[in-house]
Amino acid sequence: MRQIKLLDTTLRDGEQSPGCSMHINEKLEIAETLEKLNIDIIEAGFPVISDGDFKAVYEIAKLLKTTTAAALARCRKIDVDAARDALAPAAFPRLHLFIATSPIHLEYKLKMTEEQVLEAISESINYAKKFFKEIQFSFEDACRTPLPFLIKATKTAVDAGAKIINLPDTVGYITPDEIYNIFSSVKASLGENSDVVLSTHNHDDLGLAVANSIAAVRAGADQIEGTVTGIGERAGNTALEEIIMGFKTRKAFYGCDTAANTKMIYRTCKLVTGIIGRKIPPNKAVVGENAFAHEAGIHQHGVLESPSTYEIMTPESIGITNNKLLLGKHSGRHAFAAEIKKMGYELDAATLDYTFKKFKDLADKKKTVSKLDIEAIMPKLSRPISNRMYALDNYEASSFKGGASVQVSLISNDEVISETASGDGPVDAAFKAINNITGYDFALEDFAIHSVTEGKDALGESVIKLRLGDKLFTGRGVSTDVLESAILAYVNAVNKHMEEVTDEQ
Ligand code: MN
Repeated sequence: MRQIKLLDTTLRDGEQSPGCSMHINEKLEIAETLEKLNIDIIEAGFPVISDGDFKAVYEIAKLLKTTTAAALARCRKIDVDAARDALAPAAFPRLHLFIATSPIHLEYKLKMTEEQVLEAISESINYAKKFFKEIQFSFEDACRTPLPFLIKATKTAVDAGAKIINLPDTVGYITPDEIYNIFSSVKASLGENSDVVLSTHNHDDLGLAVANSIAAVRAGADQIEGTVTGIGERAGNTALEEIIMGFKTRKAFYGCDTAANTKMIYRTCKLVTGIIGRKIPPNKAVVGENAFAHEAGIHQHGVLESPSTYEIMTPESIGITNNKLLLGKHSGRHAFAAEIKKMGYELDAATLDYTFKKFKDLADKKKTVSKLDIEAIMPKLSRPISNRMYALDNYEASSFKGGASVQVSLISNDEVISETASGDGPVDAAFKAINNITGYDFALEDFAIHSVTEGKDALGESVIKLRLGDKLFTGRGVSTDVLESAILAYVNAVNKHMEEVTDEQ
């Protein structure tokens, strides 16, 4: 069985896409979860780009115990130096250098000749070799690069010392048949005994990222790059959970597998989409809400007789536990802690106390508390976004047809500040009141509310995106009262901004 390595670039390529920027603590939480998913390599960022990126790569490099930490760099000394410093604490560091090779990129972007590109490849590797044992080299837009030049570039990089060669379909243009040919040719050019690893990195502009990655593996690639749920530039990247379950489910056919711990898939996908404030589409392969739902009567009948009639994989295999209720209003802390543990969470004492208190409050309002409810009230981050500048104290709303007036009281530095505002409805009015308190003119970019479970006493989860200048802040709030959940989400997003402000001071 071939073991295919997985490189996750959720924190680099994924974060680059609009509206997906993340707080450093959110990145750390994702990195920690990816390590539990047993991903082989985590691309943590592009250190030279900003202080924030540098710091995130440094902290992630420090955190990872068994996973390789990779950092991106252009063929420039300052890029390599930044990557070297950011990866200094890594147990297993990897430098990821790149340069474009396609005629379009050479002419319009780089304004370089093929000769100059080859020179940049060997020069940058020769410089980086002084600091890195493991160097991956990527040829941007490789799949639109004429094969003879791609092979020449590969040889140059390998001769200089690159151990992994990545041939990305940067623009999502290629087809499975074509990528199979590209990888077969480059693989053949390396010779029989080469221990150089070929890697594939595909974009989903035409919906073929996963199919192309698998075709590249069949032609000899031993590493696939992708992101959680396929987030990324434009139409996104290869969705890693689809690759993992594809190989797992059709192992005999592909003769390939990955080291991934499939039971962590669902939780990882929920964490990432929760952080960027996007809902997983119901029909999404592997992790969509409907992926395991059998609506048609004839299907339901079959599944009841034997799940294998319509299920090619089980919900349990990706870590979805059944949602049966175990606890009620009278459950004690001990039983609660045992249940949380059974659900697969390890919480420290303070977080357990916090979650137990929230559970008790919820059990007072709601007859039955389910696993989904408990997951919703649990803090999403074990490293909270600190400096919570504002916390909700109270609110009072009066609404009528066509308008509303809301008074919101927030606590900041032990002081209660109240503002009243009117608006088109109670949510609009509450948001205006919060803006008045903070003194910032946050614009509401996106607001979604959905119920966590079914029933009239269900928890409502609000996700809000606020814009201030060119920055977006995602906030999340949960309550049995929709207005409260909206206010909590708004305050959560505001606090993320406030932390950045305090950081800069
Ligand atoms: Mn990419």
